[in-house]
Amino acid sequence: MSISRRDIEAIYGLENWGAGYFSVSRKGHLMVHPRPGQGPGIDIKTIVDTLGEQGLNPPLLLRFPQIISSQITRLHEAFTRAIAEGGYRGQYRGVFPIKVNQRQEVVKQIMHAGKLYDYGLEVGSKPELATALALHDNPHALLICNGLKDETYIQLALYGRILGKIVILVLENLGELEGIIRLAKRTRVKPLLGIRVKLFSRGSGKWEEGGGELSKFGLQIGEVLQALETLTQYGMRDCLKMLHFHLGSQVTDIRRIKNAVREAARIYAKLYKSGVELEYLNVGGGLGIDYDGSQTPSDSSINYTMQEYANNVVYTIKEICEQEGTRQPTLVSESGRAVVAHHSLLVINVQRAVHPPQPFKDGQGEGESSQVTLSLTELLAQLTSKNYRESYHDAIELQEELFSLFNLGYLSLEDWARGEALFWEICRRAARYARRAEDVSDDFQLLQKALASKYICNFSVFQSVPDFWAIKQLFPIIPIHRLDETPSEIATLGDITCDSDGKIDRFVDLKDVKDTLEFHSFENSAYHLAVLFLGAYQDIIGDFHNLFGTVHEALITMDDEGEPTIEQVIHGDCIDDVLQYVRYDVKDLQRRFTNQVQAQVRRGALPKRVAQQVLTGYRRSFQAYTYLVPDAYTSPQEK
Ligand code: PLP
Repeated sequence: MSISRRDIEAIYGLENWGAGYFSVSRKGHLMVHPRPGQGPGIDIKTIVDTLGEQGLNPPLLLRFPQIISSQITRLHEAFTRAIAEGGYRGQYRGVFPIKVNQRQEVVKQIMHAGKLYDYGLEVGSKPELATALALHDNPHALLICNGLKDETYIQLALYGRILGKIVILVLENLGELEGIIRLAKRTRVKPLLGIRVKLFSRGSGKWEEGGGELSKFGLQIGEVLQALETLTQYGMRDCLKMLHFHLGSQVTDIRRIKNAVREAARIYAKLYKSGVELEYLNVGGGLGIDYDGSQTPSDSSINYTMQEYANNVVYTIKEICEQEGTRQPTLVSESGRAVVAHHSLLVINVQRAVHPPQPFKDGQGEGESSQVTLSLTELLAQLTSKNYRESYHDAIELQEELFSLFNLGYLSLEDWARGEALFWEICRRAARYARRAEDVSDDFQLLQKALASKYICNFSVFQSVPDFWAIKQLFPIIPIHRLDETPSEIATLGDITCDSDGKIDRFVDLKDVKDTLEFHSFENSAYHLAVLFLGAYQDIIGDFHNLFGTVHEALITMDDEGEPTIEQVIHGDCIDDVLQYVRYDVKDLQRRFTNQVQAQVRRGALPKRVAQQVLTGYRRSFQAYTYLVPDAYTSPQEK
């Protein structure tokens, strides 16, 4: 049955979370608009088919680097507008926190797209700093060094200063200061310093503990004053350039941001008035993404827009600086999630559908009936919209009785099967009545979920959508084709790991969180789904559960005429790669296996010809993609 574009967009919530980057085409395909407002967009199904012809099958991670550029522009424009409209007498400087996505393609794109805005980088470790020092090539852009620091870390930052970069070492604790002063004196390099303050204000959402007085990092006000004293003693007070705070990622409530900015601005102003010529006020990360499109302060949403965020930061700091009569500092934000989350999506293929127990057929298992199956038959016959609740509860009791009787040997297999089928039929009909009555009681929500199909998809939640598993973060999910057909199935998703947690059973919904999602029927012809907004944190947090490795990737751009180009493909891990990650010597494994095969040949248990086939097949398997491929044991590279 066909369905209008409006209705299908409403089912999946696309109009709420799309952010201008997604739409549905007339053909019923998911379209991506890396440059919103320009061209017809990129048809994801066509891209997946093209990659399939090259031997790259799902799971496939598709990256759209132009979306990163577009988000950087949106962010910069939001601050520029707020600054102009608010009459703020300072500038905005964005920096990208590399931890949010360290992938080379991503960081290079940010450096490229951010050149126009002197966009910088933020790092939190030595490897991140070593990378940033090499990629950061704009003398006007900031390079902010957060995280705990040892001698090598500080030394690397000072090398950056020697090269004329604006590298700012942000003190995470008081203990770091001594090391910085010692190394600065030894190398005769004047460092630029920042201080991360622990604010009284807290964020909101899952990362709330990243800020507040009890947060892991930052100096309390007393310690800030101590740091100032030490710097004065060493004649280095003028090195202090930045005040920094970070509330935690994905702050869901704008009031929390406003409170924190107000507190930080007051600290900035007091320090400035005491003679510390701070240049920058850094509001950290936390600018969130509306994953479910509800525009509420729920965990997977935010109750503000990017523009509101910028307005709040700018206006609040301006107001306090005016009250205190201080200079208005350059504003810095370390927005990571908001810049990269939208740019990548994962295409997965449904491998198998597991349906709930089959509906009862009249006459099923006819023959001798026990009292309990007769009671179930009667219950089914009398089920109505008025008594569906009691009938469902009675059915549960009868099912338990059925099970006990079978265990005690009083029921035939046929009678048990008939009783089970009757029970599920009662459940199905009761659930239908409950849906019509908009009954959202726990009982019936659980029942709806139990009656949903399970679509087993070719991916690993742990590798590709780790935050769903770890912190129940929601991500929008939508089929990439058949969006002109009414979805007729209710299902949850399972992955191919052997872990019961390898599933997606919470979906975005405008009002709440859905336990199931509407999908199209799956009858063994290809059915592809997209999991969206995976660009922030997921790439690096993903793990190798069951040794499912990284997935194939493609970088896709759109030219001025709206034509898509697959710029680059990166093959996912093969068996060989993942075994090396867990420190196996692949040659040693092959030698051990060969020895076993040869022993069988010597014993006369295996003909030489078969042994040769086994050995060749075993060795070749090491080049196979770790996920399911249409041709088992043949990697795309081999085709
Ligand atoms: N800055 C710091 C110090 C962080 O710890 C983080 C991440 O939590 C960020 C910036 C990035 O935050 P977000 O991705 O929410 O912008």
